[in-house]
Amino acid sequence: MKTVINEIFTSIQGEGPVVGYRQLFIRFCNCNLNCAYCDTEFQSGQEFTPQELFDTIDFEYDLQNIHSISLTGGEPLLSAEFLREFLPKVKQKTKIYLETNATLAGQLSLIKENIDIISADIKLQSSSGIDTFKLHQRFFKECCGIETFAKIVFDENITDTEIQKCCNLGQENGIELILQPKMNGNKMSVSSDFCEKTLDKFLSNYKNVRLIPQVHKFLDVR
Ligand code: SF4
Repeated sequence: MKTVINEIFTSIQGEGPVVGYRQLFIRFCNCNLNCAYCDTEFQSGQEFTPQELFDTIDFEYDLQNIHSISLTGGEPLLSAEFLREFLPKVKQKTKIYLETNATLAGQLSLIKENIDIISADIKLQSSSGIDTFKLHQRFFKECCGIETFAKIVFDENITDTEIQKCCNLGQENGIELILQPKMNGNKMSVSSDFCEKTLDKFLSNYKNVRLIPQVHKFLDVR
């Protein structure tokens, strides 16, 4: 079995509660969504078997001296069958951090025993242009027992109904919500004042919420 990997690189995690840690990023090709704000190149790459990918990263990187391997994309869960073979090999060396659009609950169930941390998006229709809320509801149930937080990219179009639905989802599943302002290049697309007001609206519904912008853009790293 093979999958296509777009790129492999080390950098500093710039999003969410593990911000600042050194990670090895493995970017998978393809995605099942088409978000309006997507700026990631993930269409082409090199084919690997699980053993070839393990041998490559084990030879080229010091896996014991990174915080974790970030599985990113595109959508890594589209390669769940591949990950089912790959993850047990690499799990002996470091932790596994999954970045996902949180819409593929069935695929998560195939590999969850080897995942340490899940960074799961809640897509807002007002900024992503797509309605995935029901898929998120199923996905977060499947995350039970794994350290999970939800990342919410927002812009000036966020609605009070969306805020309420996100807070309900956070509360029902006991997960932290990380608010991330949408970026235009290296600048936030909304004002600091709007960020603060949005955070306060969330906090009036649910206490386990933080605002963390994309720090790697300020650091000018990948
Ligand atoms: S889920 Fe992520 S990778 Fe897929 S289209 Fe949306 S922003 Fe891009």
